[in-house]
Amino acid sequence: MKMKTGIALSMFLGASTLFAFDVVRDGKACASIAMPSPLPKNVTDAVAQFQNDVANLTGARLKEDGKAENRIELVLVPASLENDDTVHVGFPRKDTMRLSGGAQGLVRIFPVLLEKFAGVRYLYPTDKGTFYPPTKDFRIPEKEFTHKPFFNFTRALSNQYNPWLDILGAKWRPNCQHDIPFYILPVKEYIRTGNWPPPEVFPMMNGKRLDMKAETKKFSPSFQSDWQPCHTSRASIEEAVKNIFEELRREPDRGYISLSPNDNRGYCECPECAMRNRRDRKAFRMFGPEYLYKDHSNSYFHWCNEIAKRVSEKYPDLYFSTLAYREVHFAPDFKLHPKLIVYLCFDFGCSQYPDIFEKQKKWIGEWARTGCNLGIWEYGFGDSYYTLPRVGFKNQGKMFRFLADNNFRAFFGEGAESVGEGPKRYLYMKLMENPYADVDALLKGWYTACVGSEAAPYLARYFDFWENYWPEQASGTSFSESRIAVYHTMTPFGPYMVGLRKGDLAKCRSLMEKMLSAAEKSRDPGQKLRAKWLMASFEYYEACAKACFAEILSDSGALETPEQAVELLRNLPSAIKANRKRLALLEKFTTDPDLKWWRGIYRAKEKASMNSSPAETELAKAASFASDPYVREELKTVVRNKTLPLTIRYIANTIVRSEKENNLLSEIPDFAFLAKGKHSVELPLKNGEWIHTVPMKPGTYLVRVRVSVPGDAVLSEQTWLNLRLQARDEFGKAAGAIVDTPKISPEAGHAYSILNTVKLGDKTRFLQLIVNLFHFRDGTKVDISDVAVIPVSSP
Ligand SMILES: [Zn+2]
Repeated sequence: MKMKTGIALSMFLGASTLFAFDVVRDGKACASIAMPSPLPKNVTDAVAQFQNDVANLTGARLKEDGKAENRIELVLVPASLENDDTVHVGFPRKDTMRLSGGAQGLVRIFPVLLEKFAGVRYLYPTDKGTFYPPTKDFRIPEKEFTHKPFFNFTRALSNQYNPWLDILGAKWRPNCQHDIPFYILPVKEYIRTGNWPPPEVFPMMNGKRLDMKAETKKFSPSFQSDWQPCHTSRASIEEAVKNIFEELRREPDRGYISLSPNDNRGYCECPECAMRNRRDRKAFRMFGPEYLYKDHSNSYFHWCNEIAKRVSEKYPDLYFSTLAYREVHFAPDFKLHPKLIVYLCFDFGCSQYPDIFEKQKKWIGEWARTGCNLGIWEYGFGDSYYTLPRVGFKNQGKMFRFLADNNFRAFFGEGAESVGEGPKRYLYMKLMENPYADVDALLKGWYTACVGSEAAPYLARYFDFWENYWPEQASGTSFSESRIAVYHTMTPFGPYMVGLRKGDLAKCRSLMEKMLSAAEKSRDPGQKLRAKWLMASFEYYEACAKACFAEILSDSGALETPEQAVELLRNLPSAIKANRKRLALLEKFTTDPDLKWWRGIYRAKEKASMNSSPAETELAKAASFASDPYVREELKTVVRNKTLPLTIRYIANTIVRSEKENNLLSEIPDFAFLAKGKHSVELPLKNGEWIHTVPMKPGTYLVRVRVSVPGDAVLSEQTWLNLRLQARDEFGKAAGAIVDTPKISPEAGHAYSILNTVKLGDKTRFLQLIVNLFHFRDGTKVDISDVAVIPVSSP
């Protein structure tokens, strides 16, 4: 079905006033709701939400089964997984509107009526995020229609404020959990009863059959990772089918079975599995080099096919969901069972790059040939990981049209609710129902309803800026390098920040100030409030950008001239002020009861306390110009500036003070050698890394290395080096994000002092100090010297 736009809507209302079904007239309820019993809880919840919305819209309260001139009848129709969201609106009698459909359809139809015929817009979660046009009437033209979403399997987003997603038509089934160990090959049950299936159920890895009974410790407690069933043995298929039948006896209405592989690796390499995975023609590879993801698709999807075939004989309506992920992201060589739904995992953000989109088209084309149902598992993360609004509305529209053209019918998007990303999630939900909807019209409708018609054009221009920012500016930074992965590298203050150019923030600020003052004139308190939310969200991003000198640094993220270093140092006080503002805003947002649903910002706040401040990190970059007299003078000014935080002054002091320094490496007997003299390193190195793991206590440290490239080194355009720091806990697991300095393309005969600041959290026991040295000619020798780890935490 096609959703009507604003213009079509008003024509419709105008032409149909004579034949309208009155729900509310002149502020008085004239319809009651007749509900059969029993109804599922999500339907009764939807009725309560409808009553709440009608009251907010018109001031009138609808009754259930009360006496009124008109009746809204609900008819629950038995439906299957793929059509339980279809609902029909009919008018069997003049005084009756009948809503008939599956439970999922009955949940969604009430908001549809309000959107379509009253202009209500569910912009953000909660009543304050909803636009109710001023009216005392709610009438529905007496013209029957059917609501049937295009994506008729999963339509869902994660980290959810679920009630709002439900209003916008979320459908949570089928999901793709790693269910194998729960009931398909129930390992815990095997352990409990001692009844183990034949050994061939488990995979053969490194030439040995996995003895799960002996190795339960390695995979407990969830058993969801690092092993897969043998996908070709008779025993494995029999056991899975038997257990799925048992599960269906317990839960006959579940509608689907998730056959998703366990997480990570552990695929079977028995001769039969290996033979199936040998292909005449190599499968199209979307992600990763071969050593990372070997192709196990033919064996895995053979297993899925066999199970689906056997189980479908008894349960013909049942669906089977799974993921095209890692080792099984390749399309298999054969047709898949028509009841299989395969979710392809990728990031729409990566689709913005023409080279990646071309690859995705090819990949999706290969999958389309398998004849299965297709879905997407998408990584549209926003401010839980990013410190700028990560929006691409037109790209969302392009991708949904493309997916619909290729017959995709399921969508699950990761991410979280966000004020600052405006209509992003609203648009996801709308496009799942109608991927061919007019994105410009949806956006215009959202902006207008959100802040009022006078303020809307400014808001639109503000979001246009961010929309263009990612493909045009952020893609010029090293952020674009991760576009080849399943999803972009997601970090606060990532390299995407430095795509900002001087004046960008001022331009955005001016638009948002105009937006705010125009919205102040609105008579709708909701519009005024939302305009304030949006202004505050801009100020948060602005503070993030200023805190890390985003407009000063060039696209490489590095300081390129002493003048730039001086400018950065002179901006330190304002960057520190901006960071304080950022932290204060995080505090304000996470304590505002109206914004409890802004899940992304809660994650951002958690992360903010874990990492060193952006100024501490960026200040270290000025060290590469410490020998320049002007930079040196400026560093001394920082040291003397008593209004700056002590840690900042310590870092500056450590950089300018070349004689005595408190290098902790000298005090650790096993690592004292690192602090002394030169270390000659012959390339290539394993994984390109010169790596030392040093025991270190929690705290903030300045880390320094000096890399000297010999005068006769032959370098290419690809050659690069940088300093990478990684905190590790007592078990060697990562205890914080990787901290990288920008990549340097070195010149022969030059030496590079590289410094960075790192904050080691409470769980840290080791600091991994890594000099990355990539694409040097074999046999090249570089010198690494002046290695230091200097504590700079303020007491
Ligand atoms: Zn096998």
